[in-house]
Amino acid sequence: MLKAAFPGSFDPPTLGHLNIIQRAAGIFDEILVVVAVNRLKKTLFSAEERYAMLCELTENWKNVSVAVCDTLIVEFLQKADIKLLIRGVRGMEDFSFEFELSMMNKALDPGIETIFMTCDPQYSVLRSSFIRELASFQGNVTGMVPPLVARALREKYP
Ligand code: ADP
Repeated sequence: MLKAAFPGSFDPPTLGHLNIIQRAAGIFDEILVVVAVNRLKKTLFSAEERYAMLCELTENWKNVSVAVCDTLIVEFLQKADIKLLIRGVRGMEDFSFEFELSMMNKALDPGIETIFMTCDPQYSVLRSSFIRELASFQGNVTGMVPPLVARALREKYP
């Protein structure tokens, strides 16, 4: 039974995140999407809002579930007995950051393996921070996020 976690901020979830989740769900037996609560980072959406959006977005994928983590991700994985951690990579810049993060996680728990999944090309420039900024100027986010996220962004920036 191969169970993997896909942690992130998902502030908000984008079509790039969903593409990774869907593809990972086709490879692994179970995927747990983990909404990370970063104490140092002010997010646009609360952890509860991000959790609710991801639950709705993944409800049709039977082997995908969602959780919130407000501890170190390795501690969360240990408690959930998950040894595989998936991260999406859009390009070299992501890779160098993700590589260092994986080294840090490995130092904290050598039993955890990070698996990098490259994004599909059409999502390579999708980034939650750009989408937040675009939405703050009432820009059109169609094609970047699913409709329910677009609606939630319009509610934040009416
Ligand atoms: P962070 O955890 O750095 O805040 P995010 O929450 O935005 O990052 O993303 C969670 C994971 O999804 C990360 O591994 C990130 O690289 C990946 N990711 C983000 N956007 C995309 C995308 N457009 N395509 C593929 N992977 C992505």
